Amino acid sequence: MYIFDSVTKTKRLFTPQNPKRATLYVCGPTVYDDAHLGHAKSALVFDLLSRLIRANGYTLIYAKNITDIDDKIIKKSTESGISIKELTDTYTEAYHRDMDALGVVRPNLEPKATESFEAMIQMIQDLIDAKHAYTTESGDVYFNTKSDSKYLSISGRNQDEDETQSRVQSSTCKINNTDFALWKGVHDESIAFESPFGKGRPGWHLECSAMIEKHLAGEGKFAIDIHGGGADLLFPHHENEAAQTRCSSHHELANYWIHNGFVNIDGEKMSKSLGNSFFIKDALKNYHGEVLRYYLLSTHYRSNFNFNEEDLIASKKRLDKLYRLKKRLFGLKNSEIKTDFQKKVLEALNDDMNVSITYALIDEMIQNTNEGLDKNPKDKLLKRDSVANLAFVENLLGFGAQNPFEYFQFGIDEQTKAEINTLIAQRSEAKKAKDFERSDALRDKILVFGVNIMDTTEGTFWEQIK
Ligand SMILES: [Zn+2]
Repeated sequence: MYIFDSVTKTKRLFTPQNPKRATLYVCGPTVYDDAHLGHAKSALVFDLLSRLIRANGYTLIYAKNITDIDDKIIKKSTESGISIKELTDTYTEAYHRDMDALGVVRPNLEPKATESFEAMIQMIQDLIDAKHAYTTESGDVYFNTKSDSKYLSISGRNQDEDETQSRVQSSTCKINNTDFALWKGVHDESIAFESPFGKGRPGWHLECSAMIEKHLAGEGKFAIDIHGGGADLLFPHHENEAAQTRCSSHHELANYWIHNGFVNIDGEKMSKSLGNSFFIKDALKNYHGEVLRYYLLSTHYRSNFNFNEEDLIASKKRLDKLYRLKKRLFGLKNSEIKTDFQKKVLEALNDDMNVSITYALIDEMIQNTNEGLDKNPKDKLLKRDSVANLAFVENLLGFGAQNPFEYFQFGIDEQTKAEINTLIAQRSEAKKAKDFERSDALRDKILVFGVNIMDTTEGTFWEQIK
């Protein structure tokens, strides 16, 4: 498996330090608002990567943090009068709900910042002891960037350029303009935590380094195999994370750095100030979560993604075809046979997650299967291979994970669905009791809703007539 490493700017063969336990860490959400399409894109890219690593036979430990204490959270809590705990619990739950709808498999670990104070304080202390950090009169602790000869080696930026840029916000207490806060002293009534450096709050960059050290780091040259996140995090966040780990421990932070591109809406960068920040929960009102998944994964993860509804509809049509085939093969058991199609898909994804080849292979497989079944509806070998192929796609890409009949029910309100399901259950009872007059009458009642009924070996299903 080859993956593009943002630091060396090359595709590199993925070799975990410990072949029995690969590790992946991705910077997660700050839970003070609903998740938008940018969050969805990042979560989906690393969901696909984690599925791919596992499909290559590795055991993977995947961790994604939840930032549940920071200035934005405190501000929103103060403004709304909702406690920090209630606010962050609500948005953590909302985040999980949205990600579940997109078919994102939950990471193995989801450490919260508020549960990692001890590890953060320890890391600050280690950095002070090693003379890589210093305290100021105002009770802040800063990382001394000049003390780390490898600072800027992750982002590849030029030190002079950064000095000029950061001069604007220079703080008088800092030794160098590029130094960043590990701990921010708090002297008023706002929320603060006790520490050996006085009352305050940890710097945001510190959270990830401390969590990685606590939950994932082993004895090797690198704390973890892969560190991931959005391209906007490369500098300063990942640069600072790497510096903290390098200078407080015996290892570098990560062997591979992977970054996903931005999401633009109709050509413009998504932002709250532009009013084009697209919440996942809103998109889910009109589109099935799996359609959004299929669409958001349809361009290469490193390219910037341009969201527009026309392309989203085109994606839905492509995914519908997969579900129509799934319906055609409904009820057949998966023999888990290996096919040439599966080998080709794995090869494409192992080449830095080449999704355009992968999607083309899936389209081709669907078309070939349909043509084969049109010619010979009883072709057992074709059916066996296709069922295995669909299961393979479901497992590796998360497409086709729904019951195909229910997939096509998307958009029908819950009350109507419940009414139809009740009538279907009553009809099945009538059939069982051989009361055919009643079962026919119930059938007519169901058809009034504009749906088709299909009796299969797995039970009775219905779908909308298009
Ligand atoms: Zn991070």
